[in-house]
Amino acid sequence: MDLKICHLYPDVLNLYGDGGNIRCLTQRLRWRGIGAEVTKMPIGSTGSLAGYDLIFIGGGQDFEQQVLLDDLHRGRDRELVAAIEDGVCVLAICGGYQMLGSYYETHDGQRCDFIGALDLYTVGARERMIGNYMYKVSDTLGGFTVVGFENHSGKTRLGPKVEPLGRVLAGFGNNGEDGAEGAHYKNVFGTYSHGPLLPKNPAFADLLLSSALERKTGRGELQPLDDTLENLAHDEMCARLERSGK
Ligand code: GLN
Repeated sequence: MDLKICHLYPDVLNLYGDGGNIRCLTQRLRWRGIGAEVTKMPIGSTGSLAGYDLIFIGGGQDFEQQVLLDDLHRGRDRELVAAIEDGVCVLAICGGYQMLGSYYETHDGQRCDFIGALDLYTVGARERMIGNYMYKVSDTLGGFTVVGFENHSGKTRLGPKVEPLGRVLAGFGNNGEDGAEGAHYKNVFGTYSHGPLLPKNPAFADLLLSSALERKTGRGELQPLDDTLENLAHDEMCARLERSGK
């Protein structure tokens, strides 16, 4: 059995090597004797989004978010909404996370209408929210701490139909104001954390794998892996952020 993973818009939404998170997912599956089939779906692909177990969408700057709009509204929007409503596991980072909401409006008033799959919207601020940060994932999702790196000007506001993914412990998160970070809806996880999110936070990687496997096979339990080194690096980063009092 192979887990079918789609990397959506790797050509435009792949800031900070976000796509490397897929290598982390496939390696953690391989260590457990489970295969993975990864399909890249750049702008202009004609293949259907149906049949995937996990969809990954990275981040990108305002320009890239504008570039993909035509393709998105040629039917990918409806496919994404259908996949999400059908419980497909989705990890979306920063610009990709904003894309799942209703719209993004830059600080100088340019508006990207997005897909409205998640009850949220984003408005750009003049100052950017940049730096290492950390948040605690909500208890219902495991209550673990995530260390990451954020770089966005968009301030995201959540509506009542989505839950925050977690609460900010250091840094900005969704908007630097209400303490919320990311969004969780069905099996969708949106976060501002760029780059090696999953290698730095193996608990997050396993949360995604377990939710995708649960949906596909009815069995989400995962054989434990030795994450001693990953956890040492993770805990050191948490300690540094606590020390810096950010
Ligand atoms: N356009 C977005 C912002 O600056 C997304 C940036 C990103 O993905 N890093 O808010």
